[in-house]
Amino acid sequence: MSFSRLRLLALSVLGVGMLGVAWASAPATTPAAVSAAPTLAPSAPIPALPPGQVQPVAPGTRTPPKIPTLTLTPAIPQVHQVQYLGNGFIEVAHAIVTVTPQERINLRPLALQVAQRVLEARPSLNEVDISIYAKSSYAGFGGPLPLMTASVPRMRFGDFGRWVSSKVPYERVWVNPGNLPAYRAPDRVREVLPPTASELVNQKQARLHGGVVGGLLYRGKDRTLPIAALTFDDAPHPMYEPLLLDVLRRSGNKATFFVIGRNAAAYPYFIRDMVEARHEIANHTYHHVRLSPLSPSEASAEMHWANQILEGITHQKVRYFRPPGGDYTPQTLAAARSLGLTTVFWTDDPGDFQNPGEMLLESRLRNKLRPGGIVLLHDNAPQMLQVLQSFLSAARHQGYSLTTVGGLPK
Ligand SMILES: [Zn+2]
Repeated sequence: MSFSRLRLLALSVLGVGMLGVAWASAPATTPAAVSAAPTLAPSAPIPALPPGQVQPVAPGTRTPPKIPTLTLTPAIPQVHQVQYLGNGFIEVAHAIVTVTPQERINLRPLALQVAQRVLEARPSLNEVDISIYAKSSYAGFGGPLPLMTASVPRMRFGDFGRWVSSKVPYERVWVNPGNLPAYRAPDRVREVLPPTASELVNQKQARLHGGVVGGLLYRGKDRTLPIAALTFDDAPHPMYEPLLLDVLRRSGNKATFFVIGRNAAAYPYFIRDMVEARHEIANHTYHHVRLSPLSPSEASAEMHWANQILEGITHQKVRYFRPPGGDYTPQTLAAARSLGLTTVFWTDDPGDFQNPGEMLLESRLRNKLRPGGIVLLHDNAPQMLQVLQSFLSAARHQGYSLTTVGGLPK
């Protein structure tokens, strides 16, 4: 189907309003389908509110670089903002759309209209990703989940149009089942908290010997082979993920993504993209919540729900876990172990989430790279995206293989 025909279709559908969204058509993997962990009371549901402090996603302490925005002329009233970014090879836009309760019945044709107009407005875009939120509760990416999301690579626009017009299956779309946990605003807490005295003993051993010590992994065991792990926290993000995956694909590197369960639920197709590219999917809790103030069963539930979401999407066992902010207790470690998870820390935190500047970030990355190291990055840090290609190239020239946590000699 041609672009112009799809445009006509979108406009006509919008005009007559015949196509309603299958609102109750829950995806195969939803928290409603999550069963209780063995350590929980039988049939324990996901609570209406996260049980503790929610860690902000990549809370930069310095002003982030300004992300360019796209203006649609004439405007589509429901479009809140369209941001776009490139990685030196491709460009991806993220359109944020907000709707009133009356507009919810026409989400599909609205999404098609937005996709078509954004792709037309900037011909260099390779993809537009769309997040449609309820206008009354929209509070940014970390706020209440969208009503619907879609990923529309330019090459797949026709397929997306057929999903809208004919209900032909299209796998890069998600419709909120309407039964997900309520939202709680993030608390401003430090990204990395100092460990307690008892934790320091375990950490010292894990750092000293390498490999897994008491459920902790700080670095690989082998300090001679030039192999280090590349890890990205807080995934997935609807603008950064395709850009990041594209850089990794071009360099041939594999990485471990520590994924927030609720965001994986809303953007499951990015998790499938990661699996298809043979990256490793790991657990970063369901709500991106601080774990140390929680009871052991609450902490266990956070990990369990994220596991359920991820394993439902990937059909693979989750092996690794990283607590948001690196904040954990011995009970957290025990809970992770009981779920079969190794808790992963890092040898190298260049502070990409704090926007230190591209030159400083890249020099930190290059200078700290060590055999057996674990590099901590965040998938939605714009300066990271700008220096990653150069860092990966430098690492390769030094003879390093950057790979997943699972690929690290332990
Ligand atoms: Zn995090």
